[in-house]
Amino acid sequence: MKNEKAVILPGATLGVMGGGQLGRMFAHAAQRMGYFTAVLDPDADSPAGLVSHHHIHTDYLDSDGLGRLAQLCAAITTEFENVPARALETLAAQRPVAPGADAVAIAQDRAREKAHFTRCGVPCAPHALIETREQLAAVTDDLLPGVLKTSRLGYDGKGQLRVKTREELTAAWDELKHVACVLEKLLPLAAECSVIVARGRDGQVVNLPPQLNLHRGGILAVTEVHEGNLPPARAAEAVASARAIAEGLQYVGVLCVEFFVLADGSLVVNEMAPRPHNSGHYSMDACDVSQFDLQVRALAGLPLTQPRQHSPAVMLNLLGDLWFTHGNDEQTPPWDEVLALPGTHLHLYGKQGARKGRKMGHLNITGPTAAAARATALQAAALLGIEAF
Ligand code: ADP
Ligand code: MG
Repeated sequence: MKNEKAVILPGATLGVMGGGQLGRMFAHAAQRMGYFTAVLDPDADSPAGLVSHHHIHTDYLDSDGLGRLAQLCAAITTEFENVPARALETLAAQRPVAPGADAVAIAQDRAREKAHFTRCGVPCAPHALIETREQLAAVTDDLLPGVLKTSRLGYDGKGQLRVKTREELTAAWDELKHVACVLEKLLPLAAECSVIVARGRDGQVVNLPPQLNLHRGGILAVTEVHEGNLPPARAAEAVASARAIAEGLQYVGVLCVEFFVLADGSLVVNEMAPRPHNSGHYSMDACDVSQFDLQVRALAGLPLTQPRQHSPAVMLNLLGDLWFTHGNDEQTPPWDEVLALPGTHLHLYGKQGARKGRKMGHLNITGPTAAAARATALQAAALLGIEAF
């Protein structure tokens, strides 16, 4: 690896593998600081490609595309964990890449991810690997009812099935085409939360405050961040665990760690994402340094400063569902009415073609108090047809 220690100052070009909304918001943050940006994504209309100075549309493993990206950029990051680790290795031979291929490869694989959590002393759900019929047969009853998840490529609740009995488990593994899976015990969740941490090449670690997350249909729906959103001891434990997980990886960049809060109040780590995360989007309007600013700083080797949340915040995810009436006719959500509410910040990702479940944007709501932010968020949700929370 070259220039690992060098600071990359504004004026240089920063690259990102992947052209989705996370890449788009990275590009915006980088450009605001005076960097040029380059995106590699096979889709000519990718949200990040649309706003980047350079857009290379080739496959992630295309050697010409990777060569051009390395030539253009002083350093390269990734915006989704399913970028082939091999592509990151190729780039890393020529330019600083953060996060590194090793960390991304661990985050791509639920089994390796859980082994890493355990190594770091952070408890995760009781689980078993299922890669063979023998392993399927050896599953102990205490893991049922459970959730069978593909080890790789799952997201937004895709690639997972809930099973109550051994018969259902066998049928579910058939349905998942016998790919490598992890069976997790179904845990009684009181809540879900996540923590964004950023770690620099020099080992400095900073974090955003813990986020309280509500999922609907396997997709993040609402994030609330304010003092008291979690019991203070749990919040402190989540932050310490997320930091330990990043340190254990010698991670460089932004990492999101998701947790379950169980009915008995204990905390269990669920999964991690080697990139900014949907649950960290509130930081764009509620913190003095956002998760995307942290991504730029970590990649460029600039100092990381501990972000300060200046406003209580609620984030509403804007899924494609909002673009349809109950009668399934297309509609445009009433943005003008939503933006008439104080403290609303609209972020749309420039995606053409709303589909149900597709992430089209998010709405951040900030307020002087948690109660005020929440009240406004509920008004916005009612205007948009999002179920109250
Ligand atoms: P994804 O990669 O799709 O986000 P997750 O493993 O985070 O997959 O699972 C999605 C959601 O399903 C979680 O946020 C949680 O609400 C629920 N879930 C997942 N695993 C369990 C479990 N072991 N016990 C209870 N609920 C679970
Ligand atoms: Mg998840």
